Amino acid sequence: MPNPIPFQRNGRFFQLPVMYGAVGLGNSLNHFQDVRMIQSMLNQALANGHISGTALSITGAINVPTIQLIQKFQQAFPAFLGRETKGFVLPESKTLTQLVIASQTKIPTQPSVPNPPKDQLPGTGGPGFYRYSPRTGENLAADGTLMSSAKPAVISAMVELAAQWNNRHPSHPIGIGDMSGPDGKGDWSRHPGSGHAGGNIIDVRPMTKNGGSGNQGKTQIGANSYDRALTSELVQLLFQSGKVKTILFNDGQIKGVHFAKGHDDHLHIVFSL
Ligand SMILES: [Zn+2]
Repeated sequence: MPNPIPFQRNGRFFQLPVMYGAVGLGNSLNHFQDVRMIQSMLNQALANGHISGTALSITGAINVPTIQLIQKFQQAFPAFLGRETKGFVLPESKTLTQLVIASQTKIPTQPSVPNPPKDQLPGTGGPGFYRYSPRTGENLAADGTLMSSAKPAVISAMVELAAQWNNRHPSHPIGIGDMSGPDGKGDWSRHPGSGHAGGNIIDVRPMTKNGGSGNQGKTQIGANSYDRALTSELVQLLFQSGKVKTILFNDGQIKGVHFAKGHDDHLHIVFSL
């Protein structure tokens, strides 16, 4: 038998094997060595992601699954194979050429982005923060409708601030409530005053003396559990980041915050990002 014929595709070298005759339907020769080779190449093309289906048994005997897989393969390359969709592979044909390439070339999988920017704060919380439901006071799990979306830059800033806070006060995590809805949308029934749209708003609880999350973290101005000194420190940390524009909160003893109706039990933080 003569030697395989070398060829080039996209700068890569391949070899076109020599066949005794056609493999597949009709009056194909179906020499057992050819059939074995085609079955094996089809399996490689399957493994490389060019076609989907079940791997063939390498028998060397032509059968229906082999013919069907040849047709499937031919239909997967309509532009290149054109009329070669008849269920057989001829020597030196385009189908054979494409089969050689497909059996040796993986379909590139989508490259995964190592740290895609997030626009959602995890409901499970993270270092220095937990999530609570403004409706029930419980942790997020108790209220699936929590507004958890913000701009990726706002999420990153909040996560970083919480991590800094965690270094100072590990037993006093920041309770984070509503942000914006998906795609930065507001919800006027939930936030009649502002809607909470824009993806740059985060509601946060004032600090409690004992720390803790869920209903343990619930407090408001004037309550025994309310810790003004810690809350004031949190406010200063937020402003010092240079990323916070406004904080609405009703404790007039804390520098920098603004009074707004309904803000005794949470700080409404507006980021400048
Ligand atoms: Zn708010």
